[in-house]
Amino acid sequence: MSRYWSRVVRDLTPYVPGEQPKLPNLVKLNTNENPYGPSPLAIEALRAEIGDTLRLYPDPNAERLKEAIAASFGGRGVAPRQVFVGNGSDEVLAHVFLALLKHERPILFPDITYSFYPVYCRLYEIAYQAVPLDEAFRIRAEDYLVPNGGIVFPNPNAPTGRFLPLPEVERIVAGNPDSVVVIDEAYVDFGGESAGRLVARYPNLLVVRTLSKSHSLAGLRVGFAIGHADLIEALERVKNSFNSYPLGRLAIAGAVAAIGDQWHFERTRRAVIASREALVADLAALGFEVLPSTANFVFARHSGRDAGEIALALRERGVLVRHFRQERVRQFLRISVGTDAQCQALVAALREILS
Ligand code: PMP
Repeated sequence: MSRYWSRVVRDLTPYVPGEQPKLPNLVKLNTNENPYGPSPLAIEALRAEIGDTLRLYPDPNAERLKEAIAASFGGRGVAPRQVFVGNGSDEVLAHVFLALLKHERPILFPDITYSFYPVYCRLYEIAYQAVPLDEAFRIRAEDYLVPNGGIVFPNPNAPTGRFLPLPEVERIVAGNPDSVVVIDEAYVDFGGESAGRLVARYPNLLVVRTLSKSHSLAGLRVGFAIGHADLIEALERVKNSFNSYPLGRLAIAGAVAAIGDQWHFERTRRAVIASREALVADLAALGFEVLPSTANFVFARHSGRDAGEIALALRERGVLVRHFRQERVRQFLRISVGTDAQCQALVAALREILS
């Protein structure tokens, strides 16, 4: 704390991301990164972009990337002007909160969800109401059919991994014509179904995506949103009042190539899904209750042992997982799906700890 800090900064409680340890050889299952590398075509495109042109600013509108994203929603009528891009979906979400969710009424999001949402609310002084998930940690559509200033939730939800079926999503969107409903689809490619195809029908729906997870480009920082052109224009107004060039030349080139490599995308996401199913079975055999997951992580609790203790014991054995202190989920561990070898190392360490 310093007397030079503004009031806003004094009152902030910043988001704390999962640890990025400097130690080598850890089994790192704590930040939902993809265990496989990015597309070789993306790496090649990045290399090709390194050169004299780096002295020039990138395209402030990243038009080439918007076209690639629009085309990837092929046949669902998404035009480039319905696409917004940013420096990771965290930046996209930040602009969404300021541009589309800051109104008179409180916004709604689940009590157990991405913990960055309340942080943005404090930053932008947006009132919110946390809506409890049901006893099975599911989002209940009817809870969102009440007056509100906007709605945001991940689908699948994080850190539960549970997916809300599209007809339920549509009920929420259709039932709230006066507010924007933001679906954060960071993990949708691991078994969920995108609400992207509803965008053409609902001017109040915004779908946010990232290349960090299913395209294995967390280090490049590329996220995007698709929605009605009026929603996108609001985001552009904030972006152009904040940073004209959120995506550098490398980010644009790498993202375009990654989106174009459907083969690599399919192969790696299928591998993650298969490893997840094996991991779920192994965890169940060790006495864990595992919530049904359509993400690249699982959320699990053990009936006999404290989650905080398990996380510490895993850490001592070089395995990192994520433990949240929020009361309702204090006994859960969020475990990212690694390669089969990483998952087996985790299971072996757990077996030792629990025996
Ligand atoms: N939404 C959710 C639900 C997330 O878990 C994450 C990753 N922490 C993000 C958005 C942000 O991802 P990125 O900024 O890497 O696109």
